[in-house]
Amino acid sequence: MARAVALGCDAFQIFVKSPNRWSALPRSAEAAATFRELRGTADLPVVAHAGYLINLASPKPEVVQKSHAALLDELRRCDALGVPGLVLHPGAPQDDGREVGIERVARGLDAVLDELGHARVKVLLENTAGQGSTLGVSIDELQAIRSRAQHADDLGICLDTCHAFAAGYDLTDADGYERLVSELADGPGTSALACWHLNDSKFPVGMRKDRHANIGDGEIGLEPFARLLDDARFAHLPMILETPLGDDEEGHARDLATLRSLVGTT
Ligand code: ZN
Ligand code: MN
Ligand code: MN
Repeated sequence: MARAVALGCDAFQIFVKSPNRWSALPRSAEAAATFRELRGTADLPVVAHAGYLINLASPKPEVVQKSHAALLDELRRCDALGVPGLVLHPGAPQDDGREVGIERVARGLDAVLDELGHARVKVLLENTAGQGSTLGVSIDELQAIRSRAQHADDLGICLDTCHAFAAGYDLTDADGYERLVSELADGPGTSALACWHLNDSKFPVGMRKDRHANIGDGEIGLEPFARLLDDARFAHLPMILETPLGDDEEGHARDLATLRSLVGTT
């Protein structure tokens, strides 16, 4: 959060534990209170991103079980921190196929949310680049998970521009952008969208490669970001950078300045 304030951000994203391992430090009520206090001062919208090992669609029961425990723990951490949304990659069923995967994720999310009880924190299903068997390659696929879950109202959406582009939504074209937005409106509804991840893409459209580039340095280019930033339908939403920091670690500062220079230019 200190970095977000120093950079002059309007929103930020955190991990509530180390994202690349199953283990986590014990939850600390004291640390949570400190975070809530600091955030009260800074008054910045925040979302969290779930660990990368979580895979509720896994063919391995042991991985599904660990994923359940890890997701529940992360949601409890978010709740304690006052973080209203946890971004989650839907999962990858490997050879079991998409249908089985979608069903597994819906059942898994229901089980976790049942156990969480009263939830002040939503799970935000993120669209993916569609590498390998990963689910979430389209908004329709995210909606298929939501619509099969009992707790659909506790499941929001996070849209990543790099992932959408990699998955075949050609954001460089106004029609491609509208296809994404109308799929959102016709499926989960625009109100289900909780945040954007703004990342350019190192690879061309439809390549299903998840490699983020700095804003304007990738295959998406500046114009689609200008279009999105000036879209009144999303003006109220947190927009998060997940771009490379670069050798000088100034990547986010530059991208933030680039994005701000685009506001009001379309
Ligand atoms: Zn993500
Ligand atoms: Mn993302
Ligand atoms: Mn990514």
